[in-house]
Amino acid sequence: MAANLRIMPLGGLGEVGKNMMSIEYGRNVLVVDAGMMFPESDMLGIDYILPDWGYLRDKKDLIRAILITHGHQDHIGALPHFLEEFNVPVYATRLTRGLIEVKLEERHLLAQTTLHTYASGDVIKIGPFTVEPYHVCHSIPDTVGLGITTPGGLIVHSGDFKFDHTPVDGQPTDHAKLAEFSSRGVLMLLSDSTNADQPGHTPSEMVLNDAFHQIMREAPGRLIIATFASLISRIQQVVDVTARHNRKIAIAGRSMVENTQMARRLGYLDIPEDMLVSLEEIGNLPAHKVVIMATGAQGEPMAVLNLLATGRHPALSIQKGDTVVLSSHTIPGNEEMTHAVINRLFQRDADVYYDPLAQVHVSGHASQEEQKLLINMLRPRFFVPIHGETRHLKLHGKVARQVGIPDENIAVVENGYPLIFDDGRLEIGERVSGHYVFVDGALVGEVGPMVMREREALGQSGFVTAIVRYKRQKGRPVDQPRIITRGFVFIPESQELLSRAKDVIRSAASVKPGTAPGQVEEEVEKALSHFFYQETRRRPVVTSVVIEE
Ligand SMILES: [Zn+2]
Ligand SMILES: [Zn+2]
Repeated sequence: MAANLRIMPLGGLGEVGKNMMSIEYGRNVLVVDAGMMFPESDMLGIDYILPDWGYLRDKKDLIRAILITHGHQDHIGALPHFLEEFNVPVYATRLTRGLIEVKLEERHLLAQTTLHTYASGDVIKIGPFTVEPYHVCHSIPDTVGLGITTPGGLIVHSGDFKFDHTPVDGQPTDHAKLAEFSSRGVLMLLSDSTNADQPGHTPSEMVLNDAFHQIMREAPGRLIIATFASLISRIQQVVDVTARHNRKIAIAGRSMVENTQMARRLGYLDIPEDMLVSLEEIGNLPAHKVVIMATGAQGEPMAVLNLLATGRHPALSIQKGDTVVLSSHTIPGNEEMTHAVINRLFQRDADVYYDPLAQVHVSGHASQEEQKLLINMLRPRFFVPIHGETRHLKLHGKVARQVGIPDENIAVVENGYPLIFDDGRLEIGERVSGHYVFVDGALVGEVGPMVMREREALGQSGFVTAIVRYKRQKGRPVDQPRIITRGFVFIPESQELLSRAKDVIRSAASVKPGTAPGQVEEEVEKALSHFFYQETRRRPVVTSVVIEE
């Protein structure tokens, strides 16, 4: 019966970010999430990374829908790119849909996309699947996990979750639905591994209120709180504490302004009208009456916090007495940028709070005890850790063993390994894809490992280009060659080196009469690379242009 059921992780298994997977039964495919990932510091010039969904290309006509669990970038960031290629219906909760609409509008995709709103408790038939979203706590409201009943059995996809008994929006995880799934029998649980190396329980969002309260009470002047634009619950908490201190609040940063407007319109964010001020109005208020909510807690170059740290914001600047709070966890790879921003803020005489200096952030993900609770509530036959680096996935597998899931029923796999159900058994198939697709400006996928290696080489030692006019009949250069170089040596101080390099070029371009210019270029590049390495022990990128006279 279950012979046709197959699950393919396309992103988020073996890394933090770009979450995506497909669930297939016969000639029907459901996709869950389409996230993006931020580049690491050695991925030069890359804006962000998409999942490699090449595997789905020959299944284009079989995809019934894409289901979105929540509105974080690592779950919706790649959606516009995905929809450009696969025009399939999108299912999302109200708030998530609002966030998606903002993205689709930017890329002029909104009109052509079919969007459906689903809500916790709904039961939706899509082809042979029955989809039941259920509410989970996370750091953004309106997050769901998914129960997906297939002809092969019930699959539960946890999305990102934690068990928070005092969440900001007052809605705890839907325990009743989980119990109901359990009573029906769960074939497989796919569960969030982000915090699998954290013992115990993740603290409730509520604990932040105390930290914000204390910082706000002690801040002598303005308070600038930076977080992700999508952390709507965090914005609500800041608003609530701000109200208690009779301060006014301003929102800075385009994405935060847009998200705030949308979340207020849909009723997910409650900011009293008289509390909200514009950035221009701040100047008319005493400093200790002002809170500014800003983007850029990851040190992102163009976000508000970095502009403030470098004195480049058009409307605001850091002043003495300002207190800055970075209310977010630094995504691995962003540490250097974040620390640079914090240092610059201190240089400008601001007081800065960040985790773990003060408890100004709690994770939105389940720690080990909550992970065990979910497994115990559902008692799935098979268990697959998702959303995490390899270490998180492995550790989550261990957690599942501790609560009695047999080893042979736990599949720890990375992106691209299909999970195939055959005769009641779970098999791991041959790896098919799961690479990075880099986005650099308007280039999607054109920048690959080769280009990345060239960028590294250019970044390390710069480049040298030799330009030679060449007489083919004689096999000689016509006159003195020219050299253009950047990022290699400081030219005024390297005249001697460069003039010897010209001699090297001349002799390399003195060849057998009739030699083709292309071959002369190769000779020149070889000789020049060798010369520079001998002289400087460095390997600049060397190119040459040989122009036939
Ligand atoms: Zn999330
Ligand atoms: Zn996530």
